Amino acid sequence: MSDQPPAAPGPAPLKGGIDCRAALDQLWEYLDGELSPEKMESVRTHLALCARCYPEHDFEKAFLEAVGNCRKDLCASHRLKTKIMDTLHRLGFSPTRPTSV
Ligand SMILES: [Zn+2]
Repeated sequence: MSDQPPAAPGPAPLKGGIDCRAALDQLWEYLDGELSPEKMESVRTHLALCARCYPEHDFEKAFLEAVGNCRKDLCASHRLKTKIMDTLHRLGFSPTRPTSV
């Protein structure tokens, strides 16, 4: 019986070839479809495999959908953005980094 060492604690393995930080850094652009096809794929793969990042993705997706559902002229205001953030927060979404305004 061989003794398999337990998984090393260290940094999380790269999922989709990128780490969590890189995935979250590119998340907004990913949701906007502004990344190159290669990066889109990396982020998509990462989110599909990474339990830690997925809630973040959910939040930002919900945010963009909320923004997309309202009229553009209204969406230009920071107040509306704040209101949407507040609503999502009450729904249980909690971004780990504040959206800059
Ligand atoms: Zn991750």
